[in-house]
Amino acid sequence: MLLPIRPRQAHAQVQSQGQGQGQGRVHVIGRGIVGLSVAFALQRRGVRVRIVGPAAKLGSATVAAVGTSTLKGNILATSPLFALKMRGHAGLVDWLNTIEKASGRAVSRDFSGAFEPFYNQKEYIYQRKRVFHRQFTGCFALKVLDQRALSARFSSGGMFPRQTAGAFHYFRDGWYDPLMCLAALEEALLRGGADFLCGEVVSIKPNPMGGQLIQTDAGCHEAQQTVLAAGVFSDEILAASGFSGIRQEPVEGETVLLGAPQLNDMVLKLGKMNLVVNAGVVRVGSSSRRQADLACCQASGLASEELAELGSTLVGASSVFSSAWGIRGRFKDHSPAIGTLKWANFAQPLWLATGFYKNGLQLAPLFAEKLADLMLVTPSLSTAMSTAFPLPMSSILS
Ligand SMILES: Cc1cc2nc3c(=O)[nH]c(=O)nc-3n(C[C@H](O)[C@H](O)[C@H](O)COP(=O)(O)OP(=O)(O)OC[C@H]3O[C@@H](n4cnc5c(N)ncnc54)[C@H](O)[C@@H]3O)c2cc1C
Repeated sequence: MLLPIRPRQAHAQVQSQGQGQGQGRVHVIGRGIVGLSVAFALQRRGVRVRIVGPAAKLGSATVAAVGTSTLKGNILATSPLFALKMRGHAGLVDWLNTIEKASGRAVSRDFSGAFEPFYNQKEYIYQRKRVFHRQFTGCFALKVLDQRALSARFSSGGMFPRQTAGAFHYFRDGWYDPLMCLAALEEALLRGGADFLCGEVVSIKPNPMGGQLIQTDAGCHEAQQTVLAAGVFSDEILAASGFSGIRQEPVEGETVLLGAPQLNDMVLKLGKMNLVVNAGVVRVGSSSRRQADLACCQASGLASEELAELGSTLVGASSVFSSAWGIRGRFKDHSPAIGTLKWANFAQPLWLATGFYKNGLQLAPLFAEKLADLMLVTPSLSTAMSTAFPLPMSSILS
């Protein structure tokens, strides 16, 4: 049975307020995990926010994500981005609790660890090599469980993938439901006094009177400050706003939801795939494919069929409930970009939070806190601080 997820609200009543009403607010463009996390972080610091964007848009990444947050046993980072990923992961449960409290809505999660099954000794050796990759990065944050230990763990009428010889158990890893998290964030924002504009943004221009003018398909709106967090769709808006040459490579994928009432809850890593069982629903997420442009992909239907088959073979999942297709944007160095862009001759910058290609669900809260902190330092300092975390913004312009 599917969990009762309240549809994302249209918040149409706010749209009619039109120009002028939102002038004193920071406008955050994008209702994915990044935009809503930024809005929430700002609101918690006492800032009045308005969120701009459609309730649903085909291709949005967060609604297509499985929702896993995994470190696969690593306790030491070998790159700055991985160090951030570890920090993001460490703060996730507290962050989810905060959102639940602020919204009064539950966000399903399972942080009892992720399992990576192996079916024979050859696979065990291969996975062991990959996990340790000949460096000390984390042999303390995982356990190897044999079949007997797995059977004991999953004995209560549930099951583990058939013919499994054993599994690596990354006991710090976990999962949360991205859709429930978006719904809870929106509710928390509403309760905190935020409002929502449902139009699609076409461009953002500096306002000669101060702040920015945001052109949507439904009208023009004045903003005191603006954060662009429209995922891979940010590029088009930036180009129409006078910032050319910023390009995220589109990478697509899909997640299929299947029914399996007989299964116990578990989080599985299967190479590049993720499979999560929670409350009788199986979520299987595909590996990513590069895509030439943002047009809807023909291959998505076939890929979804493949995922449904995998779910059925591995864990005996049956009926397909739904599938969602999404695109994330990847900068050359695979790192997200947060920071400022400036128009010539205007002091007020445009804030940017985009390029969350992988692991956006564990990085977004951390980056959102950082961006909110940057925005709250004095304006003169923040424009001088044309900085990003962890990379200088100039790196996205090359
Ligand atoms: C199949 C798949 C599986 C994934 N699995 C995982 C996972 O298990 N764990 C994990 O951590 N990450 C996962 N990811 C990555 C993760 O989903 C992304 O890193 C993250 O969702 C990016 O969030 P975002 O808010 O930047 O973008 P999005 O979620 O794409 O949000 C962009 C927002 O901008 C809005 N928008 C678009 N155009 C406009 C416009 N013109 N005007 C106003 N608003 C606009 C959209 O409506 C949307 O609300 C997965 C991604 C995919 C595709």
